[in-house]
Amino acid sequence: MQWETVIGLEVHVQLATHSKIFSGASTAFGAEPNSQACAVDLGLPGVLPVLNEQAVAMAVQFGLAVHADIAEVSVFDRKNYFYPDLPKGYQTSQMYHPIVGPGEVEITLDDDSTKQIRIHHAHLEEDAGKSLHEDFHGMTGIDLNRAGTPLLEIVSEPDMRSAKEAAAYLKAIHSIVTYLGISDGNMAEGSMRCDVNVSVRPKGQEAFGTRAEIKNVNSFRFVEKAIAFEVERQIELIEDGGKVVQETRLFDPERDETRSMRTKEEANDYRYFPCPDLLPVVLDQAYLDHLRSQLPELPAEKRERFQQALGLSAYDASVLSASRDMAEYFEAVHRVCGDAKQAANWVQGELSGALNRENLSIANSPVTAGQLGELVQRVLDDTINGKAAKQVFQALWHGEGASADAIIEAKGLKQVTDTGAIEAMIDQVIADSPAQVAQYCDAEPEKRGKMIGYFVGQVMKASRGTANPQQVNGLLKEKLDALL
Ligand code: ADP
Ligand code: MG
Repeated sequence: MQWETVIGLEVHVQLATHSKIFSGASTAFGAEPNSQACAVDLGLPGVLPVLNEQAVAMAVQFGLAVHADIAEVSVFDRKNYFYPDLPKGYQTSQMYHPIVGPGEVEITLDDDSTKQIRIHHAHLEEDAGKSLHEDFHGMTGIDLNRAGTPLLEIVSEPDMRSAKEAAAYLKAIHSIVTYLGISDGNMAEGSMRCDVNVSVRPKGQEAFGTRAEIKNVNSFRFVEKAIAFEVERQIELIEDGGKVVQETRLFDPERDETRSMRTKEEANDYRYFPCPDLLPVVLDQAYLDHLRSQLPELPAEKRERFQQALGLSAYDASVLSASRDMAEYFEAVHRVCGDAKQAANWVQGELSGALNRENLSIANSPVTAGQLGELVQRVLDDTINGKAAKQVFQALWHGEGASADAIIEAKGLKQVTDTGAIEAMIDQVIADSPAQVAQYCDAEPEKRGKMIGYFVGQVMKASRGTANPQQVNGLLKEKLDALL
């Protein structure tokens, strides 16, 4: 039997507002526990929430970016349940009238093909506090700093058909929210978390199978691993004559497996009802138009432009547009050197390699885009050859000079293109290598092409790498063939 996987994601994005969604308390990460929860976040009696306008603007920006319908009127509801990290006894969320309606997101797969994933809706809600189990022996600590942090929950349609597609979708969401600047997207700090809904069905069958929901998966890699495990578990279960039950499961990254948390029978009845403390959110066209006019160029548009206007390959365009920092760096290099393909090669090759080795983000690159642009320019105008360029890059990386030109000058890396100077070096090498010259002359003509490499190496060495390699090759061949 052939099986097909069906996946839908609920992604929680912490919005990068300075204060909470319903109070003035700070949202900064990493503060002393319980130092950033005020009376509103604690649900003390007699206090009232005030909606943070910035959270609304950010939700709308996301909606516009995924071409979604924005609700003219959206309403906050109370989702009632008891948990120690939720002192109010309910989470303020949007159940029946979410702010962002149906939209869609384009994902890019490994073979550079694209696919549209539909967004069912996205709604605003508040985050809960955190239970801390590790530092307390036999007890649990509660940190309410996170309580009231604004979240945008983005719910997809069950449109993904593999773990790879799910990871690509999560990456697309990550790049949209970071391009928009509405979230820092830091998954390690919990700024983006997702619930993964997975089911399987016999290939060709239209009806969906029963799904399991894997809660709180917090990295791209874990999403893929959790799905791989879950798909295998469900298929095995069905093939052994069992049935998948609708349930909530937990992914254990230590063991790469999912475990049941609670089944549908044990599920809460949240008794949603409209929050009497908050007015409906009413948005008018002028407000939406204003936000639309402020939208930056988004990843899919950038990718398209990099291909169409700059002539980059689909692969290069997709790598370089994946993060806004990367895209801006590349464009700055391109502006300086004027050659998109070379700029793309240097950013993805030498620069990305060095950043990866030292685990640095491009925003913290020791080589600025301006410096790299000038370096590429010096290769393009033949001031230096490719080998010297790598030396210059290393010198820039280690702060050995302020600019490519300064380093070229200081290290004497300027390419030697003067024919006379190159000929003099060649004559010297030929004079110093009688044995190799004799071998060359005795060799079969088709073997000589390979043997010339020795002489090229010697001449390049004599020039300390600065001779123009094409000229060296051409002149050497002439001079050696004259000796035959
Ligand atoms: P609920 O209201 O119980 O949370 P939803 O219908 O809102 O359920 O779906 C929640 C998420 O689960 C959505 O992202 C949706 O795409 C996904 N989903 C729904 N049915 C399936 C299914 N059979 N297999 C995989 N994912 C599913
Ligand atoms: Mg749900």
